[in-house]
Amino acid sequence: MRERLAKRIEDKREELVALAQALVRIPTVNPPGEAYTECAQFVGRRLAARGFGVEYVRGVGSRGDSDRHPRTNVVAHREGSRPGPCVHFNSHIDVVETGYGWTVDPFAGVVKDGRVYGRGACDMKGGLAASIVAVEAILEEGIAFAGALEISGTVDEESGGFGGVGYLAERGYFSRPRVDHVIIPEPLDVDRVCVGHRGVWWSQVETRGRIAHGSMPFLGDSAIQHMAAFLHALEHDLAPRLRVRRTAQPVVPAGARASTLNVNSVHGGEPEHDGLPTPVVAHSCRAILDRRYLVEERPEDVKAEIVGLLEGLRATRPGFDFSIADVMEFPPVFTDPDAPVVQAVTQAIREVLGREAELVASPGTYDQKHVFRAGKLRDCIAYGPGILDLAHQPDEYVVIDDMVQSAKVMALAALRLQGTAS
Ligand SMILES: [Zn+2]
Repeated sequence: MRERLAKRIEDKREELVALAQALVRIPTVNPPGEAYTECAQFVGRRLAARGFGVEYVRGVGSRGDSDRHPRTNVVAHREGSRPGPCVHFNSHIDVVETGYGWTVDPFAGVVKDGRVYGRGACDMKGGLAASIVAVEAILEEGIAFAGALEISGTVDEESGGFGGVGYLAERGYFSRPRVDHVIIPEPLDVDRVCVGHRGVWWSQVETRGRIAHGSMPFLGDSAIQHMAAFLHALEHDLAPRLRVRRTAQPVVPAGARASTLNVNSVHGGEPEHDGLPTPVVAHSCRAILDRRYLVEERPEDVKAEIVGLLEGLRATRPGFDFSIADVMEFPPVFTDPDAPVVQAVTQAIREVLGREAELVASPGTYDQKHVFRAGKLRDCIAYGPGILDLAHQPDEYVVIDDMVQSAKVMALAALRLQGTAS
């Protein structure tokens, strides 16, 4: 049966390519969340024609949701021939903006050199296409699978997932008894199983000063200079401490196995109007800090460390005043390497690719956090055909062979989880 299934997926190569192209051609750019409904309905129509029950769930009231840009998710469900576990494939349908540097039309779905090019080809419409073809192949083979198969196309992963998997998870779509195992076909490479991710804490720090004429800065107090002192402390005091903290989790790339901090942005002083700056001493300066922390660190310590630096400056630097506010935070999530979904996908990779899967963890978060937090479901991983480094890049692509191979892995893993594989 396994050989027949693999052969069928091989025969569906052209169909898989065409599906990936069609998905890339729907420009689901987020923000603001373009064409979500069109993309969700495209997936829904296709699966409805294959006997799936299809539901559209709009993330009403979630950030960015409006009649102009509705947060439309699609969830497709197909019952098996007898009771058993439900295996759910979840892909986000949103893509990030194109940016500069493309040599092909990012929304044309160009096929070249055995690859499908386009924004989202790698992250993660190639993975969505592979999961759809994987379940279609199971159905076409007439395999009497137990339990149920589900496929969802969800929105807003690139902006936190609150209108997508977060919204659905809070409404039971990612909890037992409805769902037992979740595979998220994010681009982590075709032979890697991603068990989770580091924690994240975004905060906004504001330093304050006193406005004065720019020609007489000694009469004011520059918030930008105060921010510079804080940034100096981050670089020379905090960064060396973070660098030596290492996690035992298999985070890739290796640089992300340490604790990290990025200053995502700094905005200080008055904005220029039509290119004309204002000659004033800055009375406010804001920075967004992006702190990624390890499962070995406690979130309260992570915060206290930054606040401690700021309080130290207030105690020692004349005029220094600050405020700090949380912007977003998620703790680290890791699935047990012995969990059924890890074992099933690892085994399928061995069968299809003839090599051992590498267990990895992601430096940044993805929708697994909502499955853990709101869905209370621990049996969840990311596995998909895209190459991690290509995500969000110009000339993003997915390798067609990798899509085909990952579809085989997904199909075999699903059957194994349902106890159908033999
Ligand atoms: Zn993604």
